[in-house]
Amino acid sequence: MKIVMLGAPGAGKGTQAVSIAKEYGIPHISTGDIFRANIKNHTELGMKAKEYMDKGALVPDEITIGMLLDRIAENDCKNGFVLDGFPRTIPQAESLRAALLLQDQKIDYAVDIEVPDDVIIERMGGRRVCSKCGATCHIKYNPPKQEGICDSCGGELIIRADDAPETVLERLKTYHEMTQPLIDFYKKEGVLCAVDGTKTQAEVFQQILGALN
Ligand code: AMP
Repeated sequence: MKIVMLGAPGAGKGTQAVSIAKEYGIPHISTGDIFRANIKNHTELGMKAKEYMDKGALVPDEITIGMLLDRIAENDCKNGFVLDGFPRTIPQAESLRAALLLQDQKIDYAVDIEVPDDVIIERMGGRRVCSKCGATCHIKYNPPKQEGICDSCGGELIIRADDAPETVLERLKTYHEMTQPLIDFYKKEGVLCAVDGTKTQAEVFQQILGALN
């Protein structure tokens, strides 16, 4: 099963992608996570990506597409994958389609998690991420047991640099301009399933399972 997750930043793509990956036993691949790992390790790729990420802009396709195609060529992707945060532009979607077509394959489902902008802004303001293990939570909707401390590993919870309010607005603008056209792209491919992302995490997951089965 090959799945891409669509939706604005903060729509819940990451959370749902993790659940889908577990349900179907396929890897969860987040380009944002790959970039953040590179930044943490001070790689050249990480340094380049950081320039764009900190501004709420997209990392250029020349960097992103090759990186993602290399990742899905790895062995663990033989039976499929859930892509979270890729594609984010039409050229990315076209490159992915072309690469899969070479192997007579295609994306089976594009799950679009629909959430209005005002809800996104409220959600992202309360989002916290663990500085140690990367787990995310929300101070209102999914609060940690102890304030400022990660439930999973005890690490310190911080605000991700690109979750700062002005960056959130910029990321939403980038989303509407560059990424929203992918909804039509996958509709034309006949693989789009839209779900209501304003519901609880469990309800959204049930909607997704209903659509995928
Ligand atoms: P995410 O964790 O998916 O919200 O991604 C965080 C940031 O990484 C984005 O705001 C972009 O700057 C960058 N990024 C992640 N995925 C992509 C992509 N497919 N294309 C371009 N930039 C990306």
